Amino acid sequence: MGLRKKRHDEAETLRTGDRAVELRGVRRSYGRGNSTVHALRGIDLTLRSGTFTAVMGPSGSGKSTFLQCAAGLDRPTDGTVALGGTTLTGMSENKLTALRRTRLGFVFQAFNLLPSLTVEQNVLLPMRLAGRRPDRRRAADVLARVGLADKGRRRPGELSGGQQQRVAIARALVTDPDVIFADEPTGALDTTTAAEILGLLRSAVDRLGATVVMVTHDPAAAAHADQVLFLADGALVDHLEGAGADRIAARMRTLTAPAPVRVAA
Ligand code: ADP
Repeated sequence: MGLRKKRHDEAETLRTGDRAVELRGVRRSYGRGNSTVHALRGIDLTLRSGTFTAVMGPSGSGKSTFLQCAAGLDRPTDGTVALGGTTLTGMSENKLTALRRTRLGFVFQAFNLLPSLTVEQNVLLPMRLAGRRPDRRRAADVLARVGLADKGRRRPGELSGGQQQRVAIARALVTDPDVIFADEPTGALDTTTAAEILGLLRSAVDRLGATVVMVTHDPAAAAHADQVLFLADGALVDHLEGAGADRIAARMRTLTAPAPVRVAA
């Protein structure tokens, strides 16, 4: 059976709860009339729970727009998004905010920790914002998982960049979310530290059953994922499974290469 057919059948037979992320006919346009920009031109995709997906594409291909729409931070112009079996389309802003706080985790390039709070308080923040009782044992558990068991009382400013990103991953894990969205999580880190952070995301998927969707421009980062999706001009144009950095980089080059110039004979 061809891979595409097999994947399609798999998507059809997945139970709703196994579908961490589902996009159907998602379009996002900006502006009107002649000046309309089609950032997403009809994205269809199912990502199953417990998988690690990287999203790549040239600058302007729609990666940020994809992440924003998939994470309920932006509303598609057309189509539907469902997370963990819950359809976001038509949801009120308040409900969307509550869903983001309780069922999604976020990891950003710039860490986005609150400098005046301790590490432990940063990790507990999603619970507090969701109106849940802060569970300090849970915070200690996720901090231990990211190798920061002894740093709970520190402030982010006292930690290295890599340690701060570990705190952000602990914060993303604390509510046991349906999906963790990571936006260039290693963009501000050196190569060695980046590899450690990617290893942590990988083990969150393998050991905790987390689902990670990561936008990156770095083939070495994308190589940690189970599959890489390629966006070009607002459309999903390809995917690779289990590919190494070299193969991913080669595919990226064909997406960014200028169209061949035809020379008349
Ligand atoms: P990427 O993250 O791959 O660089 P984006 O999702 O940021 O791509 O952008 C995709 C396209 O949508 C680009 O042409 C960009 O200029 C356009 N775009 C993104 N956000 C806006 C916006 N708020 N207003 C108008 N155009 C936008």
